Amino acid sequence: MTTLLQVDNLKVHFPIKRGLLSKTVGHVFAVDGVSFSLQKGETLGIVGESGCGKTTAGLGILQLIRPTAGRIAYNGQDITGTDRRSLRALCKEMQIIFQDPYSSLNPRLTVQQILSDPMEIHGLYPGKERAERVAYLLEKVGLSPDYGRRYPHEFSGGQRQRVGIARALTLDPNLIVGDEPVSALDVSIQAQIINLLIDLQAEFGLSYIIIAHDLAVVEHLCDRVAVMYLGRVVESGSYRDLYQHPKHPYTQALLSAVPVPEPGRKKERIILQGDVPSPIQPPAGCHFHPRCPRRMDHCHESVPTLKDVSPGHAVRCFLYE
Ligand code: SF4
Repeated sequence: MTTLLQVDNLKVHFPIKRGLLSKTVGHVFAVDGVSFSLQKGETLGIVGESGCGKTTAGLGILQLIRPTAGRIAYNGQDITGTDRRSLRALCKEMQIIFQDPYSSLNPRLTVQQILSDPMEIHGLYPGKERAERVAYLLEKVGLSPDYGRRYPHEFSGGQRQRVGIARALTLDPNLIVGDEPVSALDVSIQAQIINLLIDLQAEFGLSYIIIAHDLAVVEHLCDRVAVMYLGRVVESGSYRDLYQHPKHPYTQALLSAVPVPEPGRKKERIILQGDVPSPIQPPAGCHFHPRCPRRMDHCHESVPTLKDVSPGHAVRCFLYE
């Protein structure tokens, strides 16, 4: 397999400014040293609770937020801190599907205009070809080409997300980052959109990074999964390894909350104590130690590193060092 994306030690820290002189008094450590790779045609899921930094990591990869440190290589080329011109070229390669299909579409534009705009900006598909391309994309996402004349408010939530997916496809990208692409939809519609994403991946050879808080969603979509907690990856591996043999106490707790689709079979639920701590002052040592049911004496002093416990399965926890 060929590596499409290599992310090394990605950090996104937001300064907290106070006072008349806007003095920096601290930082929000939203993403604090995330590393992973993505192969061509692969789907990587990034999961974790709200505030774990998964969306910021996705935006940092797309350069929609400038990373504080780290290196991102796309197709072997370093794209970290790339200038505006190169960023525009990069837009053709990497696209995003947003969580809220309504607020991510301009309500004043028809779907035809929404889908044509990126092609116009990049000078692609001139003249009649552009309208043909819009009709083609609408068909690919399961909508009638006639819907191009409609405005976003004339669609249901699922149809709007289909328009959002069509927009992500307009420039023929290789990589799509889906930021909670189905979490705003009804469960029955979620399944349709997940199946659509799988079909489009097979047809266009796409690679996906799917950001989600719901492990059941990534289970159906992803080849590999990275679990994030307070800005760091705490466990990563193939979805089979991670779902069948979760190692990190946080992953075990997250998975214990996923319902089992077998009547009569019950799972023992692990209830974590307390809330996710603030990323402004993350706990020392292992960030998870205040909530960890298996913490040891040294967990609040030393920082565990992400280490392989089996080929392709890595865990950040002293229980496995
Ligand atoms: Fe729990 Fe310690 Fe492992 Fe952190 S390093 S997850 S506190 S056992």
